Amino acid sequence: MSGSFPLFRIFGITVEINASWLIVFALFSFTLAQQYFPEQMRGLEPSLYWSMGIITTMLIFISVLLHELAHSLMAIKEGIPIKRITLFIFGGVAQMEQEPKLPGIELKIALVGPATSLVLALVAWLIFRMLPPDIVLNQVIFFLARLNLIVGLINLIPAFPLDGGRVLRAGLWQILHNMLRATRIAVFIGSIFAFMAIGFGLLLLFQFALIWGLWYIFLGWLLYQSGQASYTQLVFQQTFKGVPVKNIMSTNVKSVSPQLNLDQVLDLFYTHKFGAFPVTENGRLMGLITLNQLRDVEAEQRSHTTVQQIMTKASDLVIVSPDRDAVDVMMRMAAQNMSRVLVMDNQRIVGILSNTDMMKLINMHMLLGTEK
Ligand SMILES: [Zn+2]
Repeated sequence: MSGSFPLFRIFGITVEINASWLIVFALFSFTLAQQYFPEQMRGLEPSLYWSMGIITTMLIFISVLLHELAHSLMAIKEGIPIKRITLFIFGGVAQMEQEPKLPGIELKIALVGPATSLVLALVAWLIFRMLPPDIVLNQVIFFLARLNLIVGLINLIPAFPLDGGRVLRAGLWQILHNMLRATRIAVFIGSIFAFMAIGFGLLLLFQFALIWGLWYIFLGWLLYQSGQASYTQLVFQQTFKGVPVKNIMSTNVKSVSPQLNLDQVLDLFYTHKFGAFPVTENGRLMGLITLNQLRDVEAEQRSHTTVQQIMTKASDLVIVSPDRDAVDVMMRMAAQNMSRVLVMDNQRIVGILSNTDMMKLINMHMLLGTEK
């Protein structure tokens, strides 16, 4: 995910944090220190409220991480590699390298997350009951019990791609013996929940509960978007399973010389309507120049700037072989935010695989239907 930075590694999984989480961290600490804790226990020092707020927010972080770790460890146990967990604004995502192969496996991976949150809630609640109620720490623990209960229950809502939606998909998959159709139904049910959240948000807006209204609308929209995105990704995976890069890449590739100036290259962009040109010298790959890079150079500078000066150097390019699995390459491109890769066979450029090539194919397959 873009805007994320790694924190540490655990069980071979990189735990990274998205910049959006820092906003949540500040917001939670502030609300807890200024509003929640002062209402629960009156007359304490402001610095104590702030410490409670910050400690609680860190414990929320750990709770969310444990939820995601539970999913990840179960996935790894079932043979699905997990490279990283990203914690972002609404919690976390464990990035599965592939989809579960059987409904039973999906069920286990999906359920273990909410189960972990609910167990954490129970443990926190038991500790809360054992300690005397007037201890400051106990307010923190009580809050954690409530939070984990809410996290566990919200994730059980059957709206794909929430955990509950995955449980639903596993059930449908088991009955229908068709993962794609099961996903389509689960995504449809998920979008009903998403529209309900948006409708509820609008209702709140009319009652002048502005912040809560916008919050529900935003959550609903996010749920809808992520459902659609997971479905598109799945269609792609099903469609291109086992298809090599060479079958879908553009083979119509023209190279340019590193010495050309940008006005000359601009003409070539207009003539050929490509998004990028490989840069070669004496048959050797030097780099890649894209229309976006050229756009960033001011018009009057173009005549005395050469391709060499602004191109991406060959050493920074991702190069794949024509026989590589298209799905693998696409997953890698998505993970690294790349829009195209160069396809080479024995030092020879044979094609370019771009996001647009793949999106066109996906759209075609979605229009024609790919249910097998
Ligand atoms: Zn989960």
